[in-house]
Amino acid sequence: MAKITWKTPIVEMQGDEMTRVLWDRIKETLLLPHLELNTDFYDLSLTERERTKDEVTVKAANAIKKYGVGVKCATITPNSRRMEEYKLSNMWRSPNGTIRSVLDGTVFRAPIAVGAIAPYVGGWKKPITVARHAYGDVYAASEIAVDAPAKAELKIMYKDGREVVKEIFGFSSSGIVQGMYNTDKSIESFARSCFSYALDVGQDVWFAAKDTISKTYDARFKSVFDEVFQGYKERFEKHGIKYEYSLIDDSVARVIRSEGGFIWALKNYDGDVMSDMVATAFGSLAMMTSVLVSPDGCYEYEAAHGTVTRHYYKYLKGESTSTNSVATIFAWSGALKKRAQTENNAALKNFAESLEKAVISTIESGFVTGDLIPLWRGASAPVKLDSFSFLSHISENLGKILNS
Ligand code: NAP
Ligand code: MG
Repeated sequence: MAKITWKTPIVEMQGDEMTRVLWDRIKETLLLPHLELNTDFYDLSLTERERTKDEVTVKAANAIKKYGVGVKCATITPNSRRMEEYKLSNMWRSPNGTIRSVLDGTVFRAPIAVGAIAPYVGGWKKPITVARHAYGDVYAASEIAVDAPAKAELKIMYKDGREVVKEIFGFSSSGIVQGMYNTDKSIESFARSCFSYALDVGQDVWFAAKDTISKTYDARFKSVFDEVFQGYKERFEKHGIKYEYSLIDDSVARVIRSEGGFIWALKNYDGDVMSDMVATAFGSLAMMTSVLVSPDGCYEYEAAHGTVTRHYYKYLKGESTSTNSVATIFAWSGALKKRAQTENNAALKNFAESLEKAVISTIESGFVTGDLIPLWRGASAPVKLDSFSFLSHISENLGKILNS
């Protein structure tokens, strides 16, 4: 049978450690037997980032901007230990941070639902996608520790000479102050990414903040969302989906009582905290996908987890590992489905959906990696496989699905 291919390349970004090993094995066993891979390839391994002074990351990000679809393997974000381990000349930025700033995108994290792995929250039937506004707020705040009686003020100095000053607090003893900001432009991009993604996947958007308390800051988020939504309203109605704003505390309560199946749009800090809560409640980080969506419609898919360093060192010593490759496979299937959509390519769409079915059916039939054993709710006992036999089982199932 002729291999399936497509016209515009998908940007492929290879990464580090255990996920790098799995990446090659996924291509070899699941993709290359069926696809003529039309990819624009970038090696984002730390070694290659060091060799190119991190230019390779910027090139990859620009390629995603050009071609519109990318798929990325997990990569090491250097810290001081890695500086030593890899003899780095510089503590290079997180590749995800670089790509995000080039694309100005929003990250959507969604769990992969499998019947035999039940979420801790009994009512959740469908995945909950968390959209985190990864710009500004407390992550870019200025903080000062006050060590004696003092007056703290907030002061804005406009270019045109105007000044606005507001007292924050009169300290009678030591304390702390924080000043944070956001920009209308970034909030608008965030809102547009959320609404575009919602149309793409056909799900409601729930946005939550605390505008009753933060009557200027959070209220601005709410009004920007309302304004941007006006441009999407008709299309939302046509697709039968909704946009709703609620207070963050009310929203948390409603999420817990919900069935899932919506996009939960959150400010930076809320998104940081709630995405970990949702991931844990759904099971394993290895079953969580992540997609970066830019406001102009570029999509970059990846697994939400890291390079699984601990397993990699076992692998290097020749020991058996049981690393879950599901999120990485779903990063590929997500990118392939997106490309199938942009090119109206039915054969590619069918392949990507079959790949996902092959993964789900492998798990449903009880063949799993170690991380899923404690989460297992299936009828009979699961079989724990090593990293590579898990992929062979999926490959076998994929062959059956494609030939049926
Ligand atoms: P990690 O790679 O996500 O792994 C943390 C632990 O979670 C693992 O040791 C393992 O637990 C479990 N785990 C994660 N993914 C798994 C999988 N696919 N299958 C089975 N178990 C899995 O996080 P980390 O160890 O904190 O970070 C390692 C490196 O990844 C760091 O250099 C970091 O910079 C990088 N990182 C990259 C990205 C990215 O590229 N998007 C994201 C996060 C971190 P057990 O050891 O208990 O089995
Ligand atoms: Mg977090």
